[in-house]
Parts: sequence; C-alpha cells; structure tokens
Amino acid sequence: MTPMGELVCYTCSKGYPLDDPRWRCECGSILDIVFEPVFALDKIRGRGPTMWRYREAIPVTLDRNIVSFDEGFTPLVEVRLNDYPVLIKQDHLFPSASYKDRGASVLISKVKELGIKTVVEDSSGNAGCAVAAYCARAQISCEIFVPQDTAAGKLAQIMLYSAALQKIPGSREDTAQAVLAAAKNKYYASHSWNPFFFHGTKTFAYEVCEQLGWKSPDTLIVPAGNGTLVLGAHIGFTELRSAGIIDKTPKIIAVQAERCAPLYRAFHEDLEEIPPVEKTDTLAEGIAIADPIRGLQILEAVRKSGGSFLTVSDEQVMDSLKELGRKGFCIEPTAAATTAGIGKYLESMHSDEVIVSVFTGHGLKSTEKIVKVVT
Ligand SMILES: *Cc1c(COP(=O)(O)O)cnc(C)c1O
Ligand SMILES: [Zn+2]
Repeated sequence: MTPMGELVCYTCSKGYPLDDPRWRCECGSILDIVFEPVFALDKIRGRGPTMWRYREAIPVTLDRNIVSFDEGFTPLVEVRLNDYPVLIKQDHLFPSASYKDRGASVLISKVKELGIKTVVEDSSGNAGCAVAAYCARAQISCEIFVPQDTAAGKLAQIMLYSAALQKIPGSREDTAQAVLAAAKNKYYASHSWNPFFFHGTKTFAYEVCEQLGWKSPDTLIVPAGNGTLVLGAHIGFTELRSAGIIDKTPKIIAVQAERCAPLYRAFHEDLEEIPPVEKTDTLAEGIAIADPIRGLQILEAVRKSGGSFLTVSDEQVMDSLKELGRKGFCIEPTAAATTAGIGKYLESMHSDEVIVSVFTGHGLKSTEKIVKVVT
C-alpha cells in the first residue's frame, strides 16, 4: 500500500480522488498528483535494481497491479565530451528502448488498478512503443495514433506488441487532434496529459541521486518537447528535497531543436504564455512539439531550478550522433539533440560541476535516418 493522494487541477485547483478515471479536469486543464511519497532507504537498498525499488514513492495502491519487466536502475556511465566528464543515464537500454518505459510502467499499472480494459495514446513514436509494450504485458488493449511518417522501426515495434496502429496523415498536431476524438469514449493513456506518467519518469531523479550516494548533481541536461523528463525530474528531485534526503536540486538545462523551439523562445523572451511556433522538419523529430500541453509547467520548473533553455541545430545533432557512435554508443537522432546540448552547455560553463544527462532512445529505432548520416 502507498500513501493516499489526490488529482488536482493545475488551473482551477479542483481536486478529484486518485481513483477517478479521468485524465483532465472538468475545466479542460491538466491534472497533477498531490501525494506524499515515502523513501524507506533501508528497504530500497535491499531491493532489486529496478525503478520499482522506490515502491512507497509511486502512487499505485496494490502490488498486484504493478505492470513491469523489472525495468530501470539504468547504468550511470561517465562519458568524456569536450574533454569533460559527464555522467549519462543509459535510458536507451529500457525494454522498449527508450526512457518512456518509466512513465508507461506506472501509468499502465494505474490503468490496471482502475480496471480499465482499453486505452488510446498518441505519440511521435517512443511513447506509443512504451504504452503498447506495457499494455501487451498487462493484456490491456490499446490503440496508438502516430503521424504517417513515423520511423519504420517504431511502427514495427508497435505492431509487434499487437497494438492497433492508426497512422494519421499530416503533422504531429493532426495526430493529437485525432486521438482527442478517440479519447471521448476511451481512457487516454497520454504521456503529456496523464499525471501518472510523470510519476514514472520521476524515478529518473531517484536513481540519479541514489547512484551519486544520495546526492543531487549540480546540473541536469535533458530534452524538452512535451517535457516528460523535465517535469519528471523536477517532481523527483523536489520530492527528495522535501523528504530531507538531498539538500538542493539541480539546475535544469532543457534542450530544444532549433527548428521547433517554443519553450526556448518563451523562456528567453520572459513570456507568461507559450505562443505555438511554425516548425520545419528536424532530425530530432521526437522533441519537435510545437504546442506542448504542459508548456507553462515546464517553463516554471526550469525557472525554479535556476536553469535555462538552449537550442541545437540539425548539424549539431548530426555531429553529436556521430561522435557518440565513435565512442561506442548507438543512440537515436532525437537523443543526440540532448548530447549536442551538452556540448553547447560545456562551452559556456565556467566552473567545475557534476553534470548528469541521458541517452533517451536507442539508435536501432531509427536506422533510416542514421544511414543517411553515416553514408
Ligand atoms: C520522448 C522523447 C524525448 C523528449 O521527451 P518529451 O517528453 O517530449 O520532452 C527525447 N528523446 C526521445 C528519444 C524521446 O523518445
Ligand atoms: Zn480545472
């Protein structure tokens, strides 16, 4: 059993029970989970190396509802970039080959707990793969909406997990519109709307702290599209500080693709809203979100952390992808946007800092693009 909590609206503060099967407020806004996690450090140490070792901090009530492949606790490996040691979480090594499994494991566990038999989700690829894999594990049926031009490897994965695949012509935003229609009468297992997803991605922060001897890094460099990792990390580090386990939280440096950077722009122009942008095709398709649902929350998290936003060009993404390949790492182009961001951050850094970052997705998901980069 875990502590009780509540779903609370970000905009109007209306509360709902955690077991209310809803993914947004009556007023239409996003919901967050308000709940007090418990960190039983002795118990945690005695458990297996998975993200579920933080059991009492995850808002799923009964153990028998947990849907898991014993995922997580990924290696934190030192990689020298620009001749500086950066600690990188190997989150491309998850069962469906991206860190989205953190969110999917918790969200689909909650779906099972709620007795829901069928869900819908939309994605530029990886979130769809993750939700499809965990639904298959739990024998819950799911329908995944993706843009027509999604990478073949990701489509193959979704179909292999036996999800119903809906390929939507047009942009990522057209896909989001299509799933909203389907979500009128099915549960929306959304990685951007559904707050349970973020209480899975927050385990990233727990693992980093534990791997550093229950300390916070100085700086965290993560991608920002819909912000599942920015917000997950923000929740996780904040919870650890509130529990008195760490005494500070890291500065969050959020990386966007130059060709689609609405949050970067709002941050640097000090706006209190996020004007949607016109985007053009980018190698980093997984973070090209023109109109992020949780945009304001992402801005707030980065501002509170004392961090910043930066952008990377497709050329920098390509160079970073190849550089990491030469070091023995196979990551997907979207993941190389973050590593390109590390390079850019290091150029402007003046003192020694403990820097943690992440490989978000595996290269084998996106071989068509990689072939073009390496030949
Ligand atoms: C989802 C994803 C991201 C970015 O996540 P957001 O939630 O959109 O901020 C980065 N890299 C990869 C490989 C992803 O799958
Ligand atoms: Zn509301």
